Amino acid sequence: MNNNSPAMSASLEDPDPLGSEAPEEPPSSSPAFVQDLLFSAPPAKRFPLPVRTCISSRSRQFMREFYPNVTDAEWSNWHWQIRNSICTLDQIQRIMPLSEDEYSAITRRTKGLPFRVTPYYASLIDPSNPLQAIRRSVIPVVDEYHFSPGEAEDPLGEDNQSPAPGLVHRYPDRALFLTTGFCSTNCRYCTRSRMVGDHGKFRSGIKQWQQAIAYIESTPQIRDVLLSGGDPLTLPDSQLDFLLSSIRRIPHVEVIRIGTKVPAVLPQRITSRLVRMLKKHHPLWMSIHFTHPDELTPETRAACTQLADAGIPLGSQTVLLKGINDSVQTLKELYHGLLKVRVRPYYLYQCDPILGSSHFRTAVSKGIEMIEGLRGHTSGYAVPHYVVDAPGGGGKIPLLPDYFQGRLQGGVVLRNYENRLFRYPDYECGNAPE
Ligand code: SF4
Repeated sequence: MNNNSPAMSASLEDPDPLGSEAPEEPPSSSPAFVQDLLFSAPPAKRFPLPVRTCISSRSRQFMREFYPNVTDAEWSNWHWQIRNSICTLDQIQRIMPLSEDEYSAITRRTKGLPFRVTPYYASLIDPSNPLQAIRRSVIPVVDEYHFSPGEAEDPLGEDNQSPAPGLVHRYPDRALFLTTGFCSTNCRYCTRSRMVGDHGKFRSGIKQWQQAIAYIESTPQIRDVLLSGGDPLTLPDSQLDFLLSSIRRIPHVEVIRIGTKVPAVLPQRITSRLVRMLKKHHPLWMSIHFTHPDELTPETRAACTQLADAGIPLGSQTVLLKGINDSVQTLKELYHGLLKVRVRPYYLYQCDPILGSSHFRTAVSKGIEMIEGLRGHTSGYAVPHYVVDAPGGGGKIPLLPDYFQGRLQGGVVLRNYENRLFRYPDYECGNAPE
């Protein structure tokens, strides 16, 4: 059992704090949080634990090699996955040889974004190729320590737009609710690396949630609340249910959204019990963070199917990453795969300039090139919005290839996906040009 997270450090004296007593209850951010919650919310209803044992042949081979004594039920239990996450040099070296660069990066890491990967997600890593997409997205390299001009700890200025701890109110009718600082797997390019994990500044708890809920209650223009973090789906069902119920009770909140990477890195978390609970809070939407088509495993497809079957509209968000997914072919494969499991590609993000991110960032022209290579060449549903989140808190700015070529003889000249020009008659009724 690793104890590298705040979640786990809360339980150091108990060898199996979640074990038989609470098979579906995951780590919480602090013991005080649980205690608060127990006193303020009804106890979660217990359901028998259905263990979904969808294990791909790749993961099974990995299990046999590195976890020979682990049962299918343990591997398929999300608590087991979190407890056994890979967080140290010894743990990662047990399952793959590191490159010199990766070794130095992990050895010198004392602060900043933690290193954490679930065993399931580690099973998708190519041990022989340090440049493999999934490996690059979660295994640290020394470039993380090289800071470049324009990079910042909080590039989106979220901390300046926070009227209550853990709440960001940037757009008029929406609020971002930072529920937890914990993620089951840490992406090396994380926009919120300043706050996630054991070294992060962020601490959540019931009192902090209550302040954020009170702000939403007192702000009638907020009609849409996005739960994010960290990863909200690493919270126990009971805490998530409490939070969703508290927000759902606010009359002016029409829509609740959850932003998560769990279906890609910890698909075992999508249990029948979680889905039954989520269904109570409709209209509930979900934005799932996907990086690469290698993430579309049988486990992840099963998780997305379960969520879609529960009537939860699913969208994807993907960060454009140099050498990882910055080709039209890779994105097309990802987006086609997502549509097959009813996830609509929603946002393609330009990578935010967090500290030490230059090795991940592409030129903005690359993002436009991606959209140009998709729009018209595949179904519109497979084409996301390419956006740059403006540094300093300007919000998302969409960028498109230049399809508008000018005006000519009472019309506009437009360029199509094959680079052919067309004139569209652009005048109002009765104002036709002579
Ligand atoms: S899942 Fe999201 S919040 Fe968590 S480390 Fe990855 S990018 Fe950051």
